[in-house]
Amino acid sequence: MNFDAFFKISYGLYVISSEHEGIKSGYVANTAFQVTSEPPQIAISCNKNNFTCHLIERSGQFSISILNQASKADIIGLFGYKSGTDINKFEKAEFIYSKASTPVLTQDCIAWFDCRVKQVVDTGSHLLFIGEIIENELLDKDAEPLTYAYYRDVKKGSAPKNAPTYIDKSKLKDHETKISPTSNKYVCLACGYIYDPAVGDVENGIKAGTSFEDLPDDWTCPTCGSLKSMFEALED
Ligand code: FE
Repeated sequence: MNFDAFFKISYGLYVISSEHEGIKSGYVANTAFQVTSEPPQIAISCNKNNFTCHLIERSGQFSISILNQASKADIIGLFGYKSGTDINKFEKAEFIYSKASTPVLTQDCIAWFDCRVKQVVDTGSHLLFIGEIIENELLDKDAEPLTYAYYRDVKKGSAPKNAPTYIDKSKLKDHETKISPTSNKYVCLACGYIYDPAVGDVENGIKAGTSFEDLPDDWTCPTCGSLKSMFEALED
């Protein structure tokens, strides 16, 4: 199997949310796609270990928020890479309730859909939920949606282990060329982002040529928002 071929499949990036008996959660997904237009239906693929997956199974409802390409990394850090069993992800995020009382993330979001589950397909590690759209809203018609390719190539993010598209980096043929030579690079253990001193973190005011040690103490991972203490030096 050539795992690099999987990177040629295009995806968007979304936050999927649900609530059951007053407990709400959400996660970052890249698998959401329209399956029919009449009736309008969308499918999502959700890891069974994902807390939100249990909430969707029980409530029979989920919302999909399409992330803005211009969104800050911290929204992905908040909704991805962490479990809703540990924190209330909505405490720090802007959201609304749909007419059917599904929580909908609106922060850094350009459109959303509220769906009622019509079918569930067990695919082994994941549940495929097919939902009929019962409400939706376009929040910003001019903004570009964030794609997985943009997130990976421009924002240097990677899929968390629960994602259906997660690929063990050691399986990639060009793995060695991607991380070598390391030149004092550091990897974020939470999300896989690699800090490269030769590149810096210009978006957040860190000039190229800044060593990891010289990053300010309050600098955080531009992909997931983790502190410097979550980083580990890449071995040569
Ligand atoms: Fe990170």
